[in-house]
Amino acid sequence: MAASPFDTHDVDNQPPEFAARDLWADDAALREGVEREGAAVFADRLRAYGQLAGGELLRLSFDAHRDRPRLRTHDRFGHRLDLVEFHPNYHAVMAAAIEHGVAGLSWQGVQSGSHVARAVLSYLHGQVEPGSSCPLTMTHAAVPVLRREAALKEWADKACAPHYDPRDVPIASKHGVTLGMGMTEKQGGSDVRANTTRAVPLPGTDEYTLVGHKWFFSAPMSDGFLVLAQAPGGLTCFLMPRWRPDGARNAFRLMRLKDKLGDWSNASSEIEFDGAWAHRLGDEGRGIATIIEMVMLTRLDCMLGSSALMRMALAQALHHARHRRAFGKRLDEHALMQNVLADLAIEAEAALALSLRVARAVDRAPTDTGEAAFARIATAIGKFWICKRTPAFVNEAQECLGGAGYVEESLLPRLYRQAPLNSIWEGSGNIQCLDVLRACSREPETRTALMDELEAASGMHAALDAQIASLRHALSDLGDAEAGARFLVERVALALQASVLLRAGSPVADAFCRSRLAGNHGLVFGTLPGDAGFSALMARALPD
Ligand SMILES: Cc1cc2nc3c(=O)[nH]c(=O)nc-3n(C[C@H](O)[C@H](O)[C@H](O)COP(=O)(O)OP(=O)(O)OC[C@H]3O[C@@H](n4cnc5c(N)ncnc54)[C@H](O)[C@@H]3O)c2cc1C
Repeated sequence: MAASPFDTHDVDNQPPEFAARDLWADDAALREGVEREGAAVFADRLRAYGQLAGGELLRLSFDAHRDRPRLRTHDRFGHRLDLVEFHPNYHAVMAAAIEHGVAGLSWQGVQSGSHVARAVLSYLHGQVEPGSSCPLTMTHAAVPVLRREAALKEWADKACAPHYDPRDVPIASKHGVTLGMGMTEKQGGSDVRANTTRAVPLPGTDEYTLVGHKWFFSAPMSDGFLVLAQAPGGLTCFLMPRWRPDGARNAFRLMRLKDKLGDWSNASSEIEFDGAWAHRLGDEGRGIATIIEMVMLTRLDCMLGSSALMRMALAQALHHARHRRAFGKRLDEHALMQNVLADLAIEAEAALALSLRVARAVDRAPTDTGEAAFARIATAIGKFWICKRTPAFVNEAQECLGGAGYVEESLLPRLYRQAPLNSIWEGSGNIQCLDVLRACSREPETRTALMDELEAASGMHAALDAQIASLRHALSDLGDAEAGARFLVERVALALQASVLLRAGSPVADAFCRSRLAGNHGLVFGTLPGDAGFSALMARALPD
């Protein structure tokens, strides 16, 4: 019993601080996934980042989040600045992430498994400072689009370089740059064809001037942005830098920062373009086709980011339940609490397993058409399902801490505020489901890749076999499927997660199939069958 400096009471029955955890060593499912999905060669780098993230970066993250970014439109003399000021911890976190490859590892040389390894870095980072994951993922995802333009090689090279430089100076003076993305306008975000921002060509060049706005524009202090605007030939993608090539400030203005539910360490702005200089990327009229390569990667990071929030929330819940007593025993010794914790552990592992499987498909896509097709469809499926599960998951983990989980110091409120975001941006839930239908109808190779992936686990669990048979039928005729798309994609997602877990030989696979596929589960977490093996599931999720 700890002695208290006050004489009114003893402070008792409180858990020890959750601090300086090794996020790599703690996470058996992660280490197995890295091995399984072909990134074992990166294990030392990943271990190092897991230790750093769970220790120093977690410590830095509190002020980076609490002291929210501030917009500075002008200096004191009235000159426009259009800058965002951050707490120094934000920059420290960004520097560590970029130096360790969270934004660039996939593109630093050609090495099998590098996408999986970068995905793991993103997952580790997202557990401790998810706000900064936004500029990191956009920087990472912009690289393949920039690489398509020989004239923009310097941008591509500096976006994947392990150097963070937050100075507001032209990129010629920098060794590393960050990128943002501007698609959403006031009159429409999901339907980007409704964009009204105009792009006027400068004769005889690939250069344009932009006039218009963006309604959501995150990380506006980035060095450059991939934006969509209407050129004479239709919706087109552009690189719009902060500084023009002639050394002048580019003609855009930050109007205000969004006052957001969560994601506080990340700045999200409204912006206006007043003749802003931009370089065309891809052909006029091919804007969506050009930027989709970036969006596919940011959607994968939504899956990873939500898996990360689940993981950190689960770790907090387990830690608390192991050290808090109620009604004569530890919380994690009560059967009903065990059911909740074990159920959360299954969900978190399934989310991570599917995310890493998709990362491997991205890795192999350049040389394997089946994997490319699988990545195409599984990204939409996973983005919908994993991100949709996260708010309820984090709330359940929060409840495991009782009242403490509603108090800011516990970390859970921060995770809870962050939890809905991944399902909203980068294409909301309905948009993902419609995308799955579109892929199945217009790109039949994606449906083939999906069924191949499911059938790779045929015969391993009766519940999955039954689901595969049902889905084969459902996916063969999608003529009238729109209204039922959510239910269909949910079932596909569960079957996919089951297929990955079963082939991985995961100890959670049987309980996952019995609860999520065979119907032995309610609508809330904590409704596993009583013989699911709670203790083993909890022990696997976090070492005691
Ligand atoms: C914090 C934050 C940061 C952001 N940062 C950026 C950024 O940096 N760059 C950027 O470009 N955007 C950014 N966004 C915008 C985000 O991507 C959009 O908000 C999102 O894509 C949805 O677009 P919308 O807000 O226009 O909603 P709408 O398109 O109006 O959609 C509203 C709802 O209708 C649903 N819906 C739309 N069409 C259909 C349909 N055909 N059938 C059924 N349902 C449909 C959607 O799923 C959604 O649930 C950010 C958003 C947030 C919250």
